[in-house]
Amino acid sequence: MSECIFCKIINREIPSEIVYENNEVLAFKDINPVSPVHVIVIPKKHICCANMIENEDVELIGKIFIAIKEVANKLGIAEDGYRIINNCGENAGQTVKHIHFHLIGGTNLGEKLI
Ligand code: 5GP
Ligand code: ZN
Repeated sequence: MSECIFCKIINREIPSEIVYENNEVLAFKDINPVSPVHVIVIPKKHICCANMIENEDVELIGKIFIAIKEVANKLGIAEDGYRIINNCGENAGQTVKHIHFHLIGGTNLGEKLI
């Protein structure tokens, strides 16, 4: 059994509010949202972080972005816009070591970091 929180969410060992799922990708509401819409989008394959993406994962990573687009449409934020964030490693403050993309929106997101 996995010790990874997000693998546990995939396996339904931890409950979450799932908003999208297919064979390879899962999206669920962040437990501590920073905006009206805050969804975590993950591959079902356990990849620790962006550093660990391999050539064999290229298609999978593309599918995550297709899922993000579909979630944005489904939750009604596609037209107004949204932000996609990935934190990789210590300096970026990554807390869950299963690669994930934050999809945030539903309001003006204010000042940009970049
Ligand atoms: P990171 O800081 O690693 O980029 O983001 C991890 C995110 O996962 C945080 O925004 C945090 O609120 C969210 N998170 C952590 N544990 C859980 C959980 O058990 N359920 C859900 N839905 N989100 C979680
Ligand atoms: Zn995992």
